[in-house]
Amino acid sequence: MENKYVTIKRFIDGLPSGLDFELRSAPLTPATPQGSEDVIVKNLFVSIDPYQINRMKEYSSSQETVEVARRLLPGQRIDAFGVGRVVASGNAEFKRDELVAGMLGWEEYTVVRPGVMLTKIDSNLDFPLSYHLGILGPSGLTAYAGFYDVCKPKKGEKVLVSAACGSVGHLVGQFAKLSGCYVVGCAGSKKKVELLKEKLGFDDAFNYKEETDVKSALKRYFPDGIDIYFDNVGAEMQEAAVANMNAFGRVAVCGAISRYTDAGKRAAPDMIDVIYKRITIRGFLAYDHLSIYDDFISATSDHIRHGRMQSLEDISQGLESVPSAFAGLFRGDNVGKKLVQLAHI
Ligand code: NAP
Repeated sequence: MENKYVTIKRFIDGLPSGLDFELRSAPLTPATPQGSEDVIVKNLFVSIDPYQINRMKEYSSSQETVEVARRLLPGQRIDAFGVGRVVASGNAEFKRDELVAGMLGWEEYTVVRPGVMLTKIDSNLDFPLSYHLGILGPSGLTAYAGFYDVCKPKKGEKVLVSAACGSVGHLVGQFAKLSGCYVVGCAGSKKKVELLKEKLGFDDAFNYKEETDVKSALKRYFPDGIDIYFDNVGAEMQEAAVANMNAFGRVAVCGAISRYTDAGKRAAPDMIDVIYKRITIRGFLAYDHLSIYDDFISATSDHIRHGRMQSLEDISQGLESVPSAFAGLFRGDNVGKKLVQLAHI
């Protein structure tokens, strides 16, 4: 049979567009050969994540750091988180028709080799499958680990979240509210700002695109200063947050999306503030925090079941929509977790 997949046509420099991608196909034998421990998965949902852009560049220093960030070449299949159904397995741990989550790809079927991350979906959890990529998946773990392990919140602290209506951001704000913090989100449209305040319980929110001076905007939203900044975007917002930070403030540097498509957007926070206000600025990767994975799943599923947390999802249909879904992340098109559904169970 033929397996369709999405690939880049050329290295990407700057903002991506649908034209940077193409759909190709390669032959696939829908059975595992004798003695192989491969698992063949039919992909149902795939995750659309900003970090992939750094893999699609001819060079990014991130490519030399961790395996998941390694460079992609034009024509290559693109591995990505996904959920799917096992169609053939040479691995005794996985049986045909079981539902799995792990490192799959922007393709119809993925052959998962031994050693590649793949786990069975716990059927007792009884949540929509898409949740295993968002609120109960990598985005949820990023929000949980970044907020609790890195920011170490205390009740009553003042928290700023950027890209607050995105996959990670909307969960961070909700964890912060559940921890008794005061939370302000910034996002790129009026609709997102309203959602944050009216649906997700943020104390306040603003559209950063309408602010000519973000430093003074933050002074308005935080007259008593910021204790925690969960940074998804980098650049001016990080500089403005540090300028408005209280003594012993913490900045969790989760992402720098503004920089991913514009090399000129480097954050240059004032180091005098960092020193005299004893501010911690710490980058992190969710997968270094797997030791709290069980806590994360148990706390978050409990919050969902009791209606204390909501998941925002933005789902496009069909493999052909992957390029535009991905390019849309950098225009702020998505509201919540961006996914593409490739097939139904
Ligand atoms: P997301 O927030 O769902 O989507 C990206 C959002 O970023 C867009 O919707 C847009 O929202 C905003 N954005 C795009 N370009 C921007 C720019 N130039 N300036 C400011 N905002 C911009 O994506 P996500 O998956 O939750 O990821 C959020 C951040 O976390 C990314 O930087 C990502 O790389 C990072 N991340 C890190 C880890 C980790 O382990 N450290 C794990 C997952 C994600 P607006 O409408 O608000 O502009």
